[in-house]
Amino acid sequence: MLPIIEKLLILQDRDKAIAQVNDALAHAPKERKTFEERKSATAQKLESAKEAQRANETKRKSLELESAQLSAQVAKFKAQQNLTRKNDEFAALANEIRHFEEKITVLDDQQLELMEAAQTLAAAVETAITEHRKVESEVAGLLTDLEKRCSNLAARREELCAERTKLAADLDEDTLDTYERIIRKKGDAVVPLEHGVCGGCHMKVSNATLSDAMVQKQIVFCDKCGRILYFVE
Ligand SMILES: [Zn+2]
Repeated sequence: MLPIIEKLLILQDRDKAIAQVNDALAHAPKERKTFEERKSATAQKLESAKEAQRANETKRKSLELESAQLSAQVAKFKAQQNLTRKNDEFAALANEIRHFEEKITVLDDQQLELMEAAQTLAAAVETAITEHRKVESEVAGLLTDLEKRCSNLAARREELCAERTKLAADLDEDTLDTYERIIRKKGDAVVPLEHGVCGGCHMKVSNATLSDAMVQKQIVFCDKCGRILYFVE
């Protein structure tokens, strides 16, 4: 194998490793977002459970107030009843009192129902809190792992880039330019030529290309795709 091909293969190996590291790092924000979304989903669930609890309490308080107002009214009617001497007025007031007391009973029943529902709602809030805490701590762990992985990858990339700079400096400018142009376009630049077939485009190369590659005197390009070929027995 030509020494230049050996050098290019090492360079290509580092370039592919750098590309892999870059891919992994580029994927990190999406992973981070997925974790954050898990956390905000349980936070939202907890918030709605709390909201339902608040709504129940507000409704209960308003029924309580309404019932107290009606009771005050009943007390007023009873006081009026004590003062009146007219039988028809007394009867009318008694009618009013019965009517108001019926309303109070309905309100009290509704309050009781809400109190029962409040127990279920409180349990739902507790469950949501437990679930949210669990997810929160899980996500914190996942995010720590992710940050660790990212910083390892960044360090690895630095190492690879330093190696790459050294390897590139050891190549003549034309060869390096050619290599970089091909790898940018094709994803790989140096490929094996096996049984007369290019390892990049998988096409059979011409006889002239094949014999040039077999001689291994100079860099040979695939006549179909333009990649740099190295002959494999
Ligand atoms: Zn080819």
